Amino acid sequence: MIASLSHVKAVMGDLKAKKKFGQNFLIDANIVERIAQGACNKDLKTIEIGPGLGALTEMLLKYSKDVDAYEIDPDMYELLNASLKDERLQVYLEDFLDADLSVYRERVNICANLPYYVTTPILFRIFESDLDIGKITVMVQKEVAERLNAGPSDEEYSALSVEVGYLFDVRNEMNVSRKVFYPMPNVDSAVISFTPARERDRGFEKKFFELVKNCFRMRRKTLHNNLKDLYDETTIAAVYEKTGFDEKIRAQQLSVDDFLKLYDAIYKGEE
Ligand code: SAM
Repeated sequence: MIASLSHVKAVMGDLKAKKKFGQNFLIDANIVERIAQGACNKDLKTIEIGPGLGALTEMLLKYSKDVDAYEIDPDMYELLNASLKDERLQVYLEDFLDADLSVYRERVNICANLPYYVTTPILFRIFESDLDIGKITVMVQKEVAERLNAGPSDEEYSALSVEVGYLFDVRNEMNVSRKVFYPMPNVDSAVISFTPARERDRGFEKKFFELVKNCFRMRRKTLHNNLKDLYDETTIAAVYEKTGFDEKIRAQQLSVDDFLKLYDAIYKGEE
């Protein structure tokens, strides 16, 4: 079993976990198995980001059709290839942010214990890709999970939460103690999953997300004041008339459906 302290220590030998790559290895086999079981499907490929020594990879192989794993660190790449040999596993020595995802024509699941320093860019890479996604399951810092799952009027609610809420059903799968990692990080973690909530329409999304970002541009300003920088008063007056929004409302108070209503009020008739 790769997910154990004895295995990690034995394989690493004199090698130190690299902070710059966010290396904290999972050492609790039960937790790893629960994550993989919920994340995978025997009929689908799973893409893993940052397999490290292979603790999660081993379990992903058990529950998936096959696994493609992207690892940035040559040391990990070597150790992993030496200890986990399976014809259903393909490991790429590559920064996931540079990986060519257009090679995937089939539906895939994604699962990762994400390196904390690069969580958001990796998530955005996945969200904005053309991948046909079954389910995304990722371990992130607990605070990041809260931010991704924030709703209207939560302090952490942002343009990112609206985008995520529009595209996916988001679920907090489990909270994970810092004690199941080696070396132990300073924060606790959570496993969060994203299941596509609707058909993708990249053209619409681009315009819709731009509007959402603009509405959040000055967080403390009212929606009206943020819109004023973009549209003339007549357009804005018509928007408030159509939506019935209060003049004093802020972007932070609007749900995903409210943003869709706003989009229609501004652009419907134009398209
Ligand atoms: N999956 C292993 C586990 O759960 O024990 C290791 C997880 S560790 C938190 C993050 C892993 O991601 C490390 O192996 C690190 O080298 C790798 N990594 C960091 N940045 C990466 C990137 N941009 N692309 C691919 N892998 C990366």
